[in-house]
Amino acid sequence: MSLKVLKFGGTSVGSAEALRRAAAIVHQELPAGGLVVVSAMRGTTDGILEACAAAGRGDLDSAQSMLSAIQTRHHEVASELGHLEAVRAPWEALFARLDQFLTGMAMLGEGTPRARDGALAVGETLSAHLAAQCFGGAFHEVRDVMKTDARFGKARPLPSAIRAAAAPWREALGRGALWVTQGFLGTSPEGITTTLGRGGSDTSATLLGEALDAEEVQIWTDVDGVLTADPSLVPGARPIPQMSLGEAEALSAFGAKVLHADSLAPGGRAGFRLVVANTHRPDASRTVILPVPPARSEGAVTSVAYKEGIYLLRFPATAGLEPPMEAARSLEEAGALRFGLISSPAGTLLAVRPETHAATEVLGTLTASGIDCEPGWAVIALVGEGLRADPVAALRHLAALGHEPIGGLLTGSSTVSIAFLVPEARLGDLIPRLHRHCVDGAPASPDQMI
Ligand code: ASP
Ligand code: MG
Repeated sequence: MSLKVLKFGGTSVGSAEALRRAAAIVHQELPAGGLVVVSAMRGTTDGILEACAAAGRGDLDSAQSMLSAIQTRHHEVASELGHLEAVRAPWEALFARLDQFLTGMAMLGEGTPRARDGALAVGETLSAHLAAQCFGGAFHEVRDVMKTDARFGKARPLPSAIRAAAAPWREALGRGALWVTQGFLGTSPEGITTTLGRGGSDTSATLLGEALDAEEVQIWTDVDGVLTADPSLVPGARPIPQMSLGEAEALSAFGAKVLHADSLAPGGRAGFRLVVANTHRPDASRTVILPVPPARSEGAVTSVAYKEGIYLLRFPATAGLEPPMEAARSLEEAGALRFGLISSPAGTLLAVRPETHAATEVLGTLTASGIDCEPGWAVIALVGEGLRADPVAALRHLAALGHEPIGGLLTGSSTVSIAFLVPEARLGDLIPRLHRHCVDGAPASPDQMI
């Protein structure tokens, strides 16, 4: 019995029309049963977070009016689909629960990460109940199986505990059941609700795929699979029909937004196919991420990714390695992404993207202590299995940049990518040029060659 897990994100369950489209896809993809994972309707998670923030400030009135806006929108969608009566009972209990969480937060004057996770769970659970009605499946509670640690707000999954808990799911789904469950949520060892971090429902789907021995996990979103570049900079960017897990990992680490970086590890362990497809064009282009790399010609680059908002910290050679290592550690602990630590006799460069308020504060402290910290950088990555066989190709591709100021080559990140720093302001010009040269294969003009 080959099992498939399908995941629909917030936009794909965000309106009556989107849910009808999703239902058609479910019927086409899962004629003999399977598992569907859904996240909260678009805007709901943000709305609940805002309500928690208001409640934490003691402003219960605002928090409750945000709650009633969420409630109204859900009721509208459910009644447009003719399912309001079917979901009314579970929904009433969920809205009452959210109200209790907000009241508690307002009373205490704070919303702890643990309480916030409890409140956020309502969003996913509301949409899973409605999706179950739309898809003709049975709702099952993901918190029965998604075991995590107790790091509220960004809990780490416990794959072997998930696998053990999922035994009854494997059996029922193996017999052809169609089940619908929530993304994003888990339970701590003490049985308290956790969340996997924003955008975590892709990871829920792949973790469940692993635990259920699925053959395929499909992530349904609103773009045509994974593209060769950001289409806002490269209008001619194309979907990549097949890619390796290594390419997907490099792409999500270096900026592609389609797949959550954490969602790829389960596929690496379990070896299922991971598919990214567009709900608006179910039969058109999709990307299949394969456990075994597809054939690529030597030196070929399949995509160009970038991430902006990078800060470059420079440590003098005389400082030695300890201060930059220590800075990297405290920045990462505060939630910053690190893109490289480059050490040479001339000194050490550290490239980071703060990501969180806490990391921005650490950056401020470092600057105040006299560390040279320069904003305005971006990291560009050329990604392709072909670079594994011909790593020097990456240098040839880089030569196409001519005399561009490059802030440093970031080595060692992956064998299927090469990444380097450039001034952020140059992205609009460099990304299309690199795409033309490396992905489309057009030769660089002679003045751009070294
Ligand atoms: N609803 C959650 C969020 O908005 C999880 C997800 O969408 O993947 O972050
Ligand atoms: Mg989402």
